[in-house]
Amino acid sequence: MSAPSSTQTRHDKHGRYPVATTVEDFQRNLAAVQARIEAVCRRVGRDSATVRLLPVSKTKPEASLRMAHAAGCRMLGENKVQEAYRKWEAMQDLTDLRWSVIGHLQTNKAKQVARFAAEFQALDSLRVAEALDRRLQVEGRSLDVFVQVNTSGEASKYGLAPEDMPAFIQKLPAFTALRVRGLMTLALFSSEAGRVRQCFVLLRTLRDRLRQSAPAGIGLDELSMGMSGDFEIAIQEGATVVRVGQAIFGARPLPDSHYWPGESSTEESRT
Ligand SMILES: *Cc1c(COP(=O)(O)O)cnc(C)c1O
Repeated sequence: MSAPSSTQTRHDKHGRYPVATTVEDFQRNLAAVQARIEAVCRRVGRDSATVRLLPVSKTKPEASLRMAHAAGCRMLGENKVQEAYRKWEAMQDLTDLRWSVIGHLQTNKAKQVARFAAEFQALDSLRVAEALDRRLQVEGRSLDVFVQVNTSGEASKYGLAPEDMPAFIQKLPAFTALRVRGLMTLALFSSEAGRVRQCFVLLRTLRDRLRQSAPAGIGLDELSMGMSGDFEIAIQEGATVVRVGQAIFGARPLPDSHYWPGESSTEESRT
């Protein structure tokens, strides 16, 4: 696979990744994505060990997830709590498989997340922080969390506005079961690499600024940004976690509008 040009993202490939149907398919796709991560790290002088690949399994059936596990995946990202919880329940036999919830959470689902998730990447309100913390205390657990920032300015994207972040992180130490690790964002959906890159640069520079006044115990080392269509740009801009679904699992049956309200349902109308 060749690297994308510097002016184009791979969002045009949405929906066109071949579906992985064997463990070998998963091994090959994982190796290909990992090779792309290593190639971009070499180009920008980063150690590829500082970039974690989080495979995203949303919409995919249990059989696919089991193949991904057999191919070496030990943490899977899921966008919707109900779906993630159902899969977790069904795959209790895979005792080394951990779950990262990467989609918006409603407070009435905090109980489920507190029970099964190892990581939550979409913290975007104090109400959710409170609900999660309370449920985690009950479970006697703690949870790694990322604060989601809306870097594209699109109303359809979840996340806190960058200007609300300084006050927000000052309040987080109160929630002792939440281990704040860093920030997460979804970039603009665009085939123009420059506009996508701006979102990643915004997240990194926001993080650098927040660090100067972050309360003790609030970690801001992690930047979760980049997906199948744009993870190379994200790594160039400092991503420490890339969330990759389709390039590993293959195209999804459901349009992205199912996950990101307001998102147009076809790539054609998006670009
Ligand atoms: C689905 C999803 C991804 C992965 O998207 P792909 O295009 O499949 O790589 C990343 N982040 C979030 C929040 C998602 O919901």
